[in-house]
Amino acid sequence: MKVAIIGTGYVGLVSGTCFADLGWDVTCVDRAFDKIEKLKKGETPIYEPGLPELVESNIRAGRLHFTTDTAEAVRDAAIVLIAVGTPTRKLDGNADLQYVYAAAREIGQALDHFAVIVTKSTVPAGTGFQVRRIVSEANPGLDFEIASNPEFLREGNAIYDFMHPDRIVIGTESDRAREMLERLYQPFIDDGVEFVSTDVVSSELIKYAANTFLATKVSFINEMADICERVGGNIEDVSRGMGTDRRIGRAFLQPGPGYGGSCFPKDTLAMVHIGERALSPATIVEAVISVNRQRCHRMVAKVLEAAGGDVRGRHIAFLGLTFKPNTDDVRDSVALVIAEELAGMGAIVRAYDPEGMEQARSVIGDVIAYCSSADEALEGADICVIATEWKEFRDRRPEQYRRLMARPVMIDLRNMFPLREMAESGFRYVSIGRKTVEPEADGSHALAELTAR
Ligand code: NAD
Repeated sequence: MKVAIIGTGYVGLVSGTCFADLGWDVTCVDRAFDKIEKLKKGETPIYEPGLPELVESNIRAGRLHFTTDTAEAVRDAAIVLIAVGTPTRKLDGNADLQYVYAAAREIGQALDHFAVIVTKSTVPAGTGFQVRRIVSEANPGLDFEIASNPEFLREGNAIYDFMHPDRIVIGTESDRAREMLERLYQPFIDDGVEFVSTDVVSSELIKYAANTFLATKVSFINEMADICERVGGNIEDVSRGMGTDRRIGRAFLQPGPGYGGSCFPKDTLAMVHIGERALSPATIVEAVISVNRQRCHRMVAKVLEAAGGDVRGRHIAFLGLTFKPNTDDVRDSVALVIAEELAGMGAIVRAYDPEGMEQARSVIGDVIAYCSSADEALEGADICVIATEWKEFRDRRPEQYRRLMARPVMIDLRNMFPLREMAESGFRYVSIGRKTVEPEADGSHALAELTAR
């Protein structure tokens, strides 16, 4: 059974490579010529731990191929998966389906035999039926079936997630399509992975329901963190105390600067749109979005407050630009919004990220300076802002920050350090939902120093 994957991005490349590793003959297609050229040479165009090795070994084994030609990829394919992007449509906040529809058209024009056309991209309820219509129009008389198979992998952990899924969701009205997809995922099914078999619309909705629920947990814990700050609680304890309840679960209860990335922002917006169109508003999700929108401004206010009300001329070492660690993805990264806003207020922002520098520069340009290491960013800094919890930032001890900085002020938007350790470090340490650690009992020390400059 040959498999074609249309769209060789984070999802397409990881799933294509993993399917190849499971033994299938896979061809990944992308319109982006540069991407495919790199892949043909065995280079990976994205940063994802473990991926280069897996791509290379599967190319070598002759199971993984790359092309820019959809017709070539689908020629002998029994299963064609669509894994193109579904970004937010500027006009109305809905998912922009132009890439999915274009892919469907190209598949329709190229197919000359029976195949199952599967939407792996995250798409609003009912999109599968549009795919069916478009394929039929492009190739009247073609024998094919459609299915939905949403993807749940997380960037930074993508290979593990793909190879150890919590569940596999297949939505289709066709028994033949279901059987073929069961075959595709047979090794997982044999391992006892939960197989959720449903209709197309429910399958499409499952992905949005899952992502918007996780985003809800994030906005919820962020609100709790703000309340903790006001009433003098500790969000880490609150989070542990509630998360250990198995009905709630600990995941996605870490407070922070708000959710970003390639999925939650666009999927929450699309969910609201889906609700509006169905005349059944997703009011909880609307609130989740509103909390998250205000979040980055609150984070900027935190930095401003720690700087004594003014960041003009202050040197800010800004650590982390990607939306989370272990990826180079900066799509909708809150870190970029905060860094840009601080620069707009007159701060000298000197940023460092282990993987996302090039991508960040292509989004926000040179409003901030890009350093080649954390040391370089920290050298002479008045304030350190940690925006992404990369391991290399966590592995540094407070004194390794302090000895490079001009002033010991840290705003940790990821709660990376224990308060006790920071209390001993001489830092003014501001984190999320926890008490501010002052170098002196009245907290005047760092502030006074900053104001005196
Ligand atoms: P991406 O932007 O990284 O990749 C999409 C790729 O599709 C691009 O390389 C683009 O050039 C290519 N493309 C677009 N139209 C094409 C066409 N007609 N033919 C060939 N190639 C085409 O996107 P992504 O992050 O992989 O996301 C893809 C989908 O998967 C989205 O719907 C997303 O919501 C969903 N998803 C993403 C993640 C994630 O963590 N990134 C996780 C689960 C689901």
